Amino acid sequence: MKIASQAPSRPLSRVTTYAQDPMVGPVIEDTVELDKIGRRVDGPRVSIWDQEVMRASADGQGNYLYGPDNRKFDQVQAFTTTQKTLDLFENYANRKLPWAFENETLGVGPHAGEGVNAYYQRFAESLSFYYFDSKALGRRVQTSQSADVVSHETGHAILDGLKPQFGQTFDRETKAFHEAFGDCAAMLLTLSRPTNREAILRETGGDLRKENCLSRMGEEFGYAVRRLNKDPQDDRDYLRTHLNDFQYVNPDTLPADGPRETLSGEAHSFCQVWTRSFYDCLAGLFEQTGDLARAAEIGGNLLTLGVHMVSPTRARYSQLAAAMLRADQLLYQGQHSGALRQAFEKVGIATSQETLPEFNWQQAPADLPAAQSLLDQLGPGGFQAQRILKDGHGMTVLEGVRTQTVRDQDKASEVAQGMSLTFDAAGKLVHKVIDEASPESELIGMRDEITRSQTGLPSTWQTIREFSDGTTLISRLPVFID
Ligand SMILES: [Zn+2]
Repeated sequence: MKIASQAPSRPLSRVTTYAQDPMVGPVIEDTVELDKIGRRVDGPRVSIWDQEVMRASADGQGNYLYGPDNRKFDQVQAFTTTQKTLDLFENYANRKLPWAFENETLGVGPHAGEGVNAYYQRFAESLSFYYFDSKALGRRVQTSQSADVVSHETGHAILDGLKPQFGQTFDRETKAFHEAFGDCAAMLLTLSRPTNREAILRETGGDLRKENCLSRMGEEFGYAVRRLNKDPQDDRDYLRTHLNDFQYVNPDTLPADGPRETLSGEAHSFCQVWTRSFYDCLAGLFEQTGDLARAAEIGGNLLTLGVHMVSPTRARYSQLAAAMLRADQLLYQGQHSGALRQAFEKVGIATSQETLPEFNWQQAPADLPAAQSLLDQLGPGGFQAQRILKDGHGMTVLEGVRTQTVRDQDKASEVAQGMSLTFDAAGKLVHKVIDEASPESELIGMRDEITRSQTGLPSTWQTIREFSDGTTLISRLPVFID
């Protein structure tokens, strides 16, 4: 007798969670693989820490079905959102993604204390979500209850794992891209759920130029914050909208900070230029495919491969856009270049690419010295090979850096300039990017961070050492607040 063999399906845990944001939609039931969540919201990649509430535990069937008034719900919600955001990006990258620290597990604290904030801190290896009482809402706002906020913070952790040096520069555009990537993660998580996709289509009648729960970011948090700031001009019930009118300009030419309705060099302001164009990419992909889930999958794939291929040291919107266009050629034979170009051009992001020499390696570089010789051969020289990065689509990215020290009165900072070469599975050079050396950008961003009042917030920079002339060498810490 023959017994039919079947691939064992992984046991699932049923969980309750908000589909998007507490102000947007109801609590839904979702599932997470039991081997990811464990029996105490404690999995191999994501684990809950909580000093205020006992850890939630799974019921006899392995499920976590709490109501939103139970504080253990916040643990399950934060766990589920973080894990699912990681799952999405691992699917886009087609490989396991690392955190920016050695530990395999990212800690997630849904009740980190009282505050109008949420953080990602590399050195703490964790996300922290704070809570505050909102008189306007007549309840406590738990930032961990918003999938928008949790997936945004998870986005910081994912990007930090992919491009660790992005977290160590004072450069305004790079810090803004970190914020933008978080908002892109929130959009992609929103679109991964059928209930959200149906709500978006219902709300807009299929016209994504109308405001909807995808274009609005952090509804409950934004609503409560605007009632705290007592500005009668500010009537927006969200933190940011991707349907904004901001146009790309060099962020160094903008004021360091400013009111919400104007574009400034502050990271959460300047990020809106990128998120606007990414939202438009998704809208264009939806027009082309007629399928929101498919649009999100393509957009996520292109963003993720694009990020792999850009410079290791700093983010430039134009280089990211060019890398996404290249990713589209590599993954989809350029099928979506029209939609992408339109979205980038509308906000004034240039999409020019480096001209590529015809080049094929003889053999794949097995170590850094081998990578070094390719960097020397194909670049202007002086770039130190630092990493061989492999994505899951057969691409190999070689990264090189060179550094210089810049000074501003009694402070100094190191500026890294990066170069990346991408080869396809056959060893053909398919993308090349070199940063402009931008010491002035580093100095401008350094002044921002030193002067910005940080009362009560974790410091975002540290002293490395003092030179004999009294100058202090400082560096940015990979910490992201909000
Ligand atoms: Zn952020």
